[in-house]
Amino acid sequence: MMTEMDKSIEELLLAKDRRRDLRLQKLEKGCITLSFNLNIPGLPKSNDSFHTFFSVCLKELKNYLLAHRIVINGDTIHCETDAAGDFFLAEVIDSDYTAIQIKNLCETFETSHPVGRLLDVDVVDEKGEPVSSGKAKLCFFCNNAPAIYCMRKQAHDYAAMRMKVELEISKYQESKKKEYVCKQLAMLATQSLLHEVALAPKPGLVDRFDEGSHTDMDFSTFLNSTAALSVSFRKIADFGYSFSGDDIKEALPKLRLIGLEIESDMFAETNGVNTHKGAIFLLGFSIFVSAYLLSRELFTNEKFISVIQDMNGDLVARELGKKLYIGKETHGEECYRKFGNKGKGIRGEIQAGMPCVFQKALPVLHQSLDKEEILNDRLLNKGLTQALLAIISENDDSNILYRKGEEVLQELKDKASTCLLKSKNKEFESVYNDLIAFCKEKRISPGGSADLLAVSYFMYSVNRQLVSND
Ligand SMILES: [Zn+2]
Repeated sequence: MMTEMDKSIEELLLAKDRRRDLRLQKLEKGCITLSFNLNIPGLPKSNDSFHTFFSVCLKELKNYLLAHRIVINGDTIHCETDAAGDFFLAEVIDSDYTAIQIKNLCETFETSHPVGRLLDVDVVDEKGEPVSSGKAKLCFFCNNAPAIYCMRKQAHDYAAMRMKVELEISKYQESKKKEYVCKQLAMLATQSLLHEVALAPKPGLVDRFDEGSHTDMDFSTFLNSTAALSVSFRKIADFGYSFSGDDIKEALPKLRLIGLEIESDMFAETNGVNTHKGAIFLLGFSIFVSAYLLSRELFTNEKFISVIQDMNGDLVARELGKKLYIGKETHGEECYRKFGNKGKGIRGEIQAGMPCVFQKALPVLHQSLDKEEILNDRLLNKGLTQALLAIISENDDSNILYRKGEEVLQELKDKASTCLLKSKNKEFESVYNDLIAFCKEKRISPGGSADLLAVSYFMYSVNRQLVSND
């Protein structure tokens, strides 16, 4: 009777025979063939994790070949998973390279890859001869003797070897995940600023057609500023993803330092105009905390809010209650002294876990955008306008408070509430135009609300694109 093990070995041998036949078929055509498989010790030769890893590396190999203009004939690709593992075989279309040159390039691919010793790219020449570069690969496990020596001598325990292979693969996949998440976070943050400024018409704010209540900045100032910010968002995401301190507050000095760098980049690009100071502060925290939670697979809005609160627990008292610098009182400090809680501004908002974002704007965005597969300009303009109104109707914008006083701020909030109430009926356009005219006439710019809108759309996008809902 055949045991399970005998059966597996027989299947493995059969699969290997089939691969040899496949190569022979190619040989009859007299062209160079290239194959790719993983070096997996023991059985089974493939499983879900090996297969995913194989697919990732195959894609990298294909890009590498394409970059070197080694062209694979797409019609000859043979790619399958059988008892011998995951396997790719294809013919190379006539190229400027000889078989040995292709082999050397493939070896460079292997040696420069972080887990290259698990990868096996083989080249067979026009005569059906396997091409060797003559260099012996070191054993993946002991990193001491040639791989072929350890394999023939069965120098290492299969279970231990497999464990090491699995560990290396999961480390590699984790690094790919980090790369993906951080890239996405930086991109989504940039998108949120672009969509915020493009949104039109907006009350008092710069949009794609109008400067609102501003005389020192326009649409292009915001585009330049956004470009300046975008290059550093990735730095914040990487920092948050890799942060491993015991107390998340330990991240604050470095986070502030990156924030200050971004601010100087912004001022350099806008000739000293403050386009995004508030957005840098809010998005900086939001990118950092999102990356931190996503790396631990702990992201939920509730968790996000609680981490933001942990980091900023006593921010208002700490930064507005006492002077950080010797000298003239800042607008923020003056506002807090004059208006108390109402004048806490952006620091109060973040200390409270961004209620304008999570309680006001996000529900509106979910309601208007969730069921839409592709968010085009028309849908976004509608959804973001509603979200902006929800924010303005709630936000005690300290800039407006400081410049225009309590009464004007209240009037602005009331007008935004009216717009929201009428958002679904035909009066909307007229009440919204009234709000826009009011801001223009009083020269009000709800910039703090615009920053919160960008953050709201960022948080919406993180939930939509990076958090799995199962
Ligand atoms: Zn070894």
